[in-house]
Amino acid sequence: MTDRMPYILGNWKMNLDIETAMSVAADVADIANDAAADVGVGLAIPYPWIPLIASEHAESNLLIGAQDVSPEESGAFTGDVSAGMLAPWCTFVIIGHSERRSIHGESNALVRAKLAAALAHGMAPVLCVGETQAQRDAGLTMDVVSDQVRSASTHLGGVELRSLLVAYEPVWAIGTGLTAEPTDAQAVAAHIRQVLGTVDIEAAASVPILYGGSVNGDNADAYFACPDVDGALVGGASLSADAFLPIVRAALG
Ligand code: PEP
Repeated sequence: MTDRMPYILGNWKMNLDIETAMSVAADVADIANDAAADVGVGLAIPYPWIPLIASEHAESNLLIGAQDVSPEESGAFTGDVSAGMLAPWCTFVIIGHSERRSIHGESNALVRAKLAAALAHGMAPVLCVGETQAQRDAGLTMDVVSDQVRSASTHLGGVELRSLLVAYEPVWAIGTGLTAEPTDAQAVAAHIRQVLGTVDIEAAASVPILYGGSVNGDNADAYFACPDVDGALVGGASLSADAFLPIVRAALG
């Protein structure tokens, strides 16, 4: 990692009942307060728990995030939640997670529209990009990631780029226990930074690029030693504070 602020962001997905969610959030808020000067610590929370957890920890350093957002402002979009509805509670929102891309068929164009909605309401988008196993086997990793990053960023100005975080998450490594080699994560992260640099080279240097895919307390160190990897997006290991804390410790160095 460099002098960019590292971020460790948990993605709870559709997990945790309200009691467990409140309890894990309280423990992670303590971790966030302890790490505040050096590491940004946050949780992407299921929609219904967001206002509860955000209110409870309004005075803490815990960053509150959502896992998705509608590209629309308002209207007849049953089941969707707009950026304006999330913005009073959330400082960040995950956009284009591979589970949204694969299960819900989200295209690069939709991801771009969601990103614009988040930025318009002052939330930091965490843009997820990454290749499937088949794309990796075909040697297409850099092409796929370039397309995803370019599509989401070419229309942005430097100010908007400075609000962005990118998470490189190889699809085959999410929730599988399989992990990218740190050298591969570094190569893709550097490539992402280079693609962002075609938009605004100075802003690109400031964008936190996270690695995601089966990160845990044992493997986090190796990723955080990579110069272009600025933290992690964490799924499974964010569901308990005991599993999450060692990852934050690794980022603290
Ligand atoms: C994720 O959901 O973004 C993720 C990286 O999950 P996991 O850490 O469980 O692989």
